[in-house]
Amino acid sequence: VASILMDYRKKSLGGRACSLNANFVQPVGRSDSNVLAVPKKKSEPAAPAADVLPVPAALADLDSHMVQQIMRESMHKYKPVTWDDIAGLDYAKSTFMETIIHPLQRPDLFKGIRRPPRGVLLFGPPGTGKTLIAKCIASQSKATFFSINPSTLTSKWVGEGEKMVKTLFAVAAAHQPAIIFMDEVDSLLSQRSDSEHESSRRIKNEFFIQLDGAVTNEDDHVVVIGATNRPQELDEAVRRRFVRRIYVSLPVAKARQLIIQKLIQQIHHNLSDAQIEELAKLTEGYSGADMDSLCRYAAMQPLRALTTAQIDVIDAQQLPAVTMTDFTNALQHISKSVSADDVKRYVSWNQTYGIER
Ligand code: ADP
Repeated sequence: VASILMDYRKKSLGGRACSLNANFVQPVGRSDSNVLAVPKKKSEPAAPAADVLPVPAALADLDSHMVQQIMRESMHKYKPVTWDDIAGLDYAKSTFMETIIHPLQRPDLFKGIRRPPRGVLLFGPPGTGKTLIAKCIASQSKATFFSINPSTLTSKWVGEGEKMVKTLFAVAAAHQPAIIFMDEVDSLLSQRSDSEHESSRRIKNEFFIQLDGAVTNEDDHVVVIGATNRPQELDEAVRRRFVRRIYVSLPVAKARQLIIQKLIQQIHHNLSDAQIEELAKLTEGYSGADMDSLCRYAAMQPLRALTTAQIDVIDAQQLPAVTMTDFTNALQHISKSVSADDVKRYVSWNQTYGIER
């Protein structure tokens, strides 16, 4: 189960490709992504590197290697996600329309006192769709999407994390409207402690400066979406910066039913609507990711019954239908991953700090 769940923990987000064509500066080329670029001597003709992305002129003064790295690794394309792909969470959807999507679509309407907050926090148990929501917001708002994982900031950019944060916001501003999605925001912004490493403290401070908008233009349309499974670890300074704090809860029965329906559409099955409803009842406390694991486990049952020789020759059309028995069997192997006590803690934090109570 752990390994199945691990698959769902992949947090690679993407967004629309950079389409700015005007005023490019030629970035410094490099042959290996792990090696810092060595600027070419003036006499050498600049060989156009196939993997060097065009950089907007506004970023010409920044470290071009870092800019390239951010554009390459944080801006991805992915299959568009629609609201229909997210079961339940209707209140969260409407908040996003007002807080992020509409303002990015019509910045002229949402300015001054109507200007939305720059930081939005999604908190809740793992596997409840926080990343999915972020992808959906990016798809719906047609904003350039940057995804950053704090562990990359601290491990990959040793000693340069602070500069990386500054550069990231500059790159996002040059591609606005833009969304910066930061998963596991607690690992970067958790409460200050005496033992806190100096470089982490500097990264955090830079992040605060950027979130406060002190060095950026008031009218920049860059929204930061932070996600965390551990909101309790965020202190007042962080909460203040993430003005909207939205609880992404476990799916209710109706949402679980929708998740099953959607997933088993792809396979040959003989489950009736009543059986799917029954399964939704049997999975109280399961997260969206748990539901996904359950369906995948059940969907594998007809294949598990085959010998290697049969797998070699069987026609896909001949596979037996997935049955209710396959699901009840899967329920023995895939259990819920979030405890009732954990849920209580989220609910309590939501009551104190969330915007929907
Ligand atoms: P989180 O970021 O909250 O840890 P994810 O967004 O990565 O969770 O969700 C993991 C997977 O679980 C998703 O890719 C999706 O397959 C499934 N999932 C989670 N929540 C939902 C939901 N509300 N509706 C549909 N699928 C969901």
